[in-house]
Amino acid sequence: MSGRFVGAHVSAAGGVRNAPRNAAALGATAFALFVKNQRQWSAPPLDPAEAEAFQAACNELGFSPDRILPHDTYLINLGAPNAENLKKSRAAFLDEMRRCRSLGLSMLNFHPGSHLGLLSPEACLDRVAESVNRALEKTEGVCAVVENTAGQGGAVGRTFEELAYLLDRIEDPSRAGVCLDTCHLFAAGHDLRTPEAYAATMADFDRIVGRGRLKAMHLNDCKSAFGSRVDRHQSLGEGTLGLGAFRSVMTDPRTAGLPLILETTDPGRWPEEIELLRGFEAAGADPGGSRARAKK
Ligand SMILES: [Zn+2]
Ligand SMILES: [Zn+2]
Repeated sequence: MSGRFVGAHVSAAGGVRNAPRNAAALGATAFALFVKNQRQWSAPPLDPAEAEAFQAACNELGFSPDRILPHDTYLINLGAPNAENLKKSRAAFLDEMRRCRSLGLSMLNFHPGSHLGLLSPEACLDRVAESVNRALEKTEGVCAVVENTAGQGGAVGRTFEELAYLLDRIEDPSRAGVCLDTCHLFAAGHDLRTPEAYAATMADFDRIVGRGRLKAMHLNDCKSAFGSRVDRHQSLGEGTLGLGAFRSVMTDPRTAGLPLILETTDPGRWPEEIELLRGFEAAGADPGGSRARAKK
């Protein structure tokens, strides 16, 4: 079984070329980044020299495209009720898909969108699907990876049924997948705290969405209460979710070979959080060994 690739959402300040080195400095084997300023609608075109420097750094440091999960900007709402906002969102998303392709990347992680109380969830998800289909039609090589949401502020994609509804409307299923965020799952009312709860939640995912569609995970503890629909991340072990969930993720055959990305609140702790996760993985692969060590 192949191992898991663990990292964090690192800074691309000063240019995307800096992100791989920022990740390597954490001891990471995976990373996430924004491919343009995450708070602005438009950005200057990607400089080919920047793209080349990014790819050279990735090659040098061993970050193949399957270990890199770029995240789209926060402004984009692919299910926006407002026509003007929808148009801007679709243009920005297409631009990001093209940037990912220019950077040699194979995935783009996106939040599905929000109906803002103005559309039914289905009508919103229909718009999201249309938005993704338009972008996929005009690009190649990049898989659109939808992230589950906590359901805050009318965000769609809270339930597995909504994720399945969306994915079933993507015309090229080979270029669509899911990133599960543990904090969003928990805040949305999917329990992960015990091995039994984790197994039940993931069995639901398999049945409703399909395990082959899982392309990545975001590993975050949660500051908000179970089922609160409030999206607040927390450092691992410091939140309402607790470490048991991460032990389960790191020993789940579903996550083998996937990028697992921290978006926890204290970047200073990322190196130790990465170590902690690797420890869970190693103990899971060798339970006798971990028991023997624990006895000492
Ligand atoms: Zn996330
Ligand atoms: Zn979040």
